[in-house]
Amino acid sequence: PPKRKFTSTADIDVTLRQVFKKDSFRSVQRQVIEAALEGRDVYLQASTGMGKSLTFQLPAVVASSGVTVVISPLLSIMANQVEALVAAGVKAAKLDSTISREERAEIFKDLESGRPTVRLLYVTPELCETPGFRAKLKWIYKQGELNRFVVDEAHCISEWGHDFRGAFKKLYWFKTEFPTVPVMAVTATANKRVRDDIVKILRLPPAPKLQMFLSSTSRTNLHYEIRYTNQDTPLLDNVIQWLKGVYKRRKSRVPNERPTAVSGLIYCQRRQTCEEVAKDLRSAGIGARPYHAALENHEKADTTTNWLLDKPGYDIIVATTAFGMGIDKPNVRFVFHWELPKSFEGYYQEAGRGGRDGNSARCILFYSREARDRTGWLISKEASKSEPTAESQSKVASFQALVKYCEDTNTCRHRAISNYFGDTEPPVCDYACDVCKDRNSVAQAKRNGLAAEEWISTQRESGSLYNGYVYDD
Ligand code: ADP
Repeated sequence: PPKRKFTSTADIDVTLRQVFKKDSFRSVQRQVIEAALEGRDVYLQASTGMGKSLTFQLPAVVASSGVTVVISPLLSIMANQVEALVAAGVKAAKLDSTISREERAEIFKDLESGRPTVRLLYVTPELCETPGFRAKLKWIYKQGELNRFVVDEAHCISEWGHDFRGAFKKLYWFKTEFPTVPVMAVTATANKRVRDDIVKILRLPPAPKLQMFLSSTSRTNLHYEIRYTNQDTPLLDNVIQWLKGVYKRRKSRVPNERPTAVSGLIYCQRRQTCEEVAKDLRSAGIGARPYHAALENHEKADTTTNWLLDKPGYDIIVATTAFGMGIDKPNVRFVFHWELPKSFEGYYQEAGRGGRDGNSARCILFYSREARDRTGWLISKEASKSEPTAESQSKVASFQALVKYCEDTNTCRHRAISNYFGDTEPPVCDYACDVCKDRNSVAQAKRNGLAAEEWISTQRESGSLYNGYVYDD
């Protein structure tokens, strides 16, 4: 069993400043860290950008010895976190397919030493299945050097969530093999069903041994808005006009700043749309670049890097869902959804890439019934291909919830999101959505925008219009 490692509150504050270079804790960070240091199991659900990683990194650093094992689904997130930790002087490492044989051997040697120096070890859930790695964990456990397991993006564990990944489901053995080692599950997007699944599958104990932190998923600096459109809506013109307006205002306010320095994201469903929209925006003098899975790796990397660095000509990325996981750019001022996304969680995560610096950001979703029918048809087609599983059912349900969210012109958008994720505290919107600002004009806009195309939707619902249509990443 792990050794007792005493840590005082003073140590927490000093580490926050000296290692993580932050002045104070945010939201529930301190409570989570204290619970972790008391050796409790923790479930943490909080909005993207709250600073969830600090809540397991700090306890790992502040302990006098021992390893914290972090299970993460995405190589790029692992790479970013390890890089940042190493830069801050923390001994962190990752075990994945990108490291060399020598690096791997070195990490294994360190783990076998009896007193490992690595404080945070990032691994994929698949690696956790391998007997070799399990044996290493058993060994450090015996030495009393296994401090904690962290399951990041824990919603991947549940077939009711999005991004379900089979290997996550097998992580229950943390509790069966190492009952005294605390587990921390972390996610930004889980509704009640997914939450229950995470607790059940990881075999987390009942409270008070398990401490649940459900911080609000609402991000009140994001301004949510739905624009109702139909085939006759000149979407591109509207967006160009809006962007030019923003540029102009910024130009007059900040005399020496490049007028186009407004960073944003536009999400589309197809690669071709990304290419077209980016090209049209460029023709209008707006620095936009496409991003999707079919681009060469170096193109994707260039686009991402230049956008992250606010390079001229790279103000806006027009992307499929392939873009964004693990991206943390502070000054994203708008996230547009050119078309209706496929899932509520996906929408929430993509929109959540705006306003990470805490300043306001516009999140506009362009909603048409044509996209509703097309996407709905594709999703139900996919779901009907095989026996219904929890995963396929949840995809349908998530899409239906998103449609309901768009069609509803009466409920505050922040509240609707909060309801979907089953938050305990209601959000404070303060006019940060179209409905709270002026619900009558939203209802009117919906009537105007959608009326013209209603007649055709019965035809579309049959799906015959969409044969051969696919979604890209
Ligand atoms: P999450 O995982 O919740 O989306 P991250 O852990 O990636 O968020 O943190 C988001 C950003 O917030 C990072 O840039 C991080 O450095 C910053 N951050 C975290 N905690 C604090 C804090 N207490 N004070 C200031 N910045 C913080």
